[in-house]
Amino acid sequence: MTTQFGLLGRNISYSLSPKIHGANINSNGMDASYRLFDVKRIEEFLPHMETLDGFNVTIPYKEAILTYCDEIDRSVKAIGACNTVKRENGKNIAYNTDWVGFYQLLEQNGVLKQFEKAKVLVIGAGGAAKAILYALTKCENYEVTLANRTLDKAKELSPNVIEFSMVSETLEIFDIVIQTTNVGVKTYASPIEIKKIKENSVFIDLNYQQHLKFLDDSKKLGAKTINGIDMLIGQAAESFRLWTGQVADIQAMKDALEKGENKC
Ligand code: NAP
Repeated sequence: MTTQFGLLGRNISYSLSPKIHGANINSNGMDASYRLFDVKRIEEFLPHMETLDGFNVTIPYKEAILTYCDEIDRSVKAIGACNTVKRENGKNIAYNTDWVGFYQLLEQNGVLKQFEKAKVLVIGAGGAAKAILYALTKCENYEVTLANRTLDKAKELSPNVIEFSMVSETLEIFDIVIQTTNVGVKTYASPIEIKKIKENSVFIDLNYQQHLKFLDDSKKLGAKTINGIDMLIGQAAESFRLWTGQVADIQAMKDALEKGENKC
């Protein structure tokens, strides 16, 4: 019988997940499919859930899905959001693989090797930022500061926060700067003005548009820049590993994205 995977979300026709998972499924020679469940209300998805072997979850259902899960992994408890559900013996088990994807991005791009110790700034305090903060707890010698437009939301997540209006002035003290807001997705814009940065610093933007102003501006000042593609692929590969116990073909996933346009 064909193994069935999918993605639950709203307004997700843009999603790159079918392309990434499809390439990996083909490469692994599996009899499997990956389809979108683009629903206005989570209740519309429930009859389909029984038919799936595993599925991903995106905005706005990353918290709502937990009501329908029987077991919740500790990463989900810490982050407060689930992006992967594994169905096992009729039970739904909730995981978060976004943080794994981000940790792999740091590894694959040599960031962990470059910095044993680092001052890190995370910009944004939404769902993505929570996964990033969790991943950074695995980097013992990284000192993390959080900035967000709504300061109270940052304060809920970290004892170490700065005002959003101060980011531009303080950028030059940070080794790693991680942009997790959705500014730059719909228009070519950056959430902050980049005037001065630290020598040998690394700038990461979780978004994966081909041109991101945040990365272009920091690159002009000499930063190493990384977009969110490796995180996107890393989280998908980890979901596949949880669902099947098999290692995903990361290169096939990357090739599939390079062949098409990387629209968000
Ligand atoms: P979210 O929960 O809606 O959070 C949005 C964040 O952006 C909040 O911190 C919000 O600040 C901030 N923000 C929005 N508009 C802003 C503006 N004009 N100026 C300053 N800050 C602004 O969204 P999310 O789930 O964290 O996702 C954020 C982005 O990360 C999305 O574009 C998503 O596609 C991307 N992402 C990528 C990956 C990947 O695998 N590469 C994974 C997850 C997410 P306030 O709190 O002040 O509203």
